[in-house]
Parts: sequence; C-alpha cells; structure tokens
Amino acid sequence: MKFTFVTLFSNLIEGYFQDSILKRAIDKDILHMHYLNPRDYSQNKHMKVDDTAVGGGAGMVMNPQPLYDALRELKSQDEDIHVVFLTPVAKPFKQNDAKRLAKKTHIAFVSGRYEGIDERVIEEFADEVFSIGDYILTGGELAALVICDAISRNIEGVLGNSDSLDVESFETPLLEAPSFSKPKNYEHKSVPSEYLKGNHSRIRSLKLALSECKTQFFRPEQLLKHRTRKSYEK
Ligand code: SAM
Repeated sequence: MKFTFVTLFSNLIEGYFQDSILKRAIDKDILHMHYLNPRDYSQNKHMKVDDTAVGGGAGMVMNPQPLYDALRELKSQDEDIHVVFLTPVAKPFKQNDAKRLAKKTHIAFVSGRYEGIDERVIEEFADEVFSIGDYILTGGELAALVICDAISRNIEGVLGNSDSLDVESFETPLLEAPSFSKPKNYEHKSVPSEYLKGNHSRIRSLKLALSECKTQFFRPEQLLKHRTRKSYEK
C-alpha cells in the first residue's frame, strides 16, 4: 500500500514512521510513504500558498493553484489513487472506514493549514473527506497520521499477530473488556480471580459482562446497538 501525504509540513509526519510497527512494515516493503509539498508547485514569486479569504473573514486560506497542480500531477501518475481530505467539515472517521480503505492500493491525504483549503480544491479532487473528531486542530497532519495508522493495522502483514484485530473495540458494538498482564498481584490490586482459574468459557462470560459494563458507562448508544443486534439474531 502506498500513502502520499500532501502537506506543507512533512517533518511533522515523517518522524512517526521511524519506529515500531509501521517502521517494520515499511522495512518489509508492505507500506510505502511519499510526501508532496504544495509549496513546490506554487507559481507565486515568493512561493506563497495562502491568501486572505474572499468575502472577508479572519485568517488565511490555502490557494487553489499549488494544490490543483500538485494533485493533478499525482492523479496523472496513478489512476487508482484515492484522495482523502482532512477537514472538520466532514463525516467522522470510523473503524469500518479503516477496514474498507485498507483494500485500496494508494491513498493520498491532503492536509489543510491556516483557516483551511479553498473549497474548489476539495470539490475537484476529493474522493472522500474525513474529520477525526469534534475539535479544531492547527493542521490536518495529525488527522492524516491517525487515519493512516488505523488503516495500516488492517493491511495484511502489518501486525505481528492479526488475531488481535478480531477482538478489538469497534469490531463489534461492544468496547473491549479490560486487559491485565503479570504479575497477578501488584500494589495490593489483583487481577479478577476468574481470569486465573483457566476455565475459558467462564473467562469468556466474565469478559463479555465486563465489556457490557464498559460500554454502558462510556458508550451507552453502542450497548443499545449490541442488544438490538442480539435480539435480531435470536
Ligand atoms: N476554519 C476551519 C473550520 O472552522 O472548519 C478549521 C481549519 S483548521 C485550523 C486547519 C486544518 O486543520 C484544516 O484545513 C484541516 O485539514 C485540519 N483539521 C482541523 N481539525 C480537524 C479535524 N477535527 N479533523 C480533520 N482535520 C482537521
């Protein structure tokens, strides 16, 4: 899978891939990262990429010309490329999107800065737009990294043990049950005794009950979805 980050600040992104699981996937040639700076395409004599907003309003907006030229070139090089814009004005990114997008061959993430990107660029080039939550970041780079990371774990060969994908939160409407590691007792706190007895069917029931408790507390709407799904299955 190839990822291209269209960004004014590739340094903010590159460091993330220099360690751990995603670095190993890059070393194994499973993931390929590329960077494209719209400033390199600017026809302005000072290489400017932003200007004041037409019609007034605070702050600067990213001009269409550098992004049009950069994205046109990118699309002409790969007709299968899937172009994703990061913006708060979009549907929220979900685990299902991560799984769906893991089947693509090449995704470009376009990160805005300042007050955002001239809307005509988004209209012309976006295959999809995503928000990563109801808050405003200073730029789209973090959002692009979040989405790239979530997609990458769903690509064959990226995780050491792909079994771990099946039991994670959001694979079903329920959040994952709490996990414990060794030692069994730590600073007067013990892991739940049922986890220690080796009866796997009882451990599964307890984990389900704990999952439901966590979901009820943090995401009650998800628990409702789980119960509705269960009652349909009966
Ligand atoms: N003026 C814009 C608004 O109110 O919707 C916010 C612009 S923000 C300061 C600059 C850039 O950060 C955006 O163009 C976008 O790429 C990125 N960004 C900010 N918050 C985001 C979010 N929640 N999800 C995805 N991208 C975000």
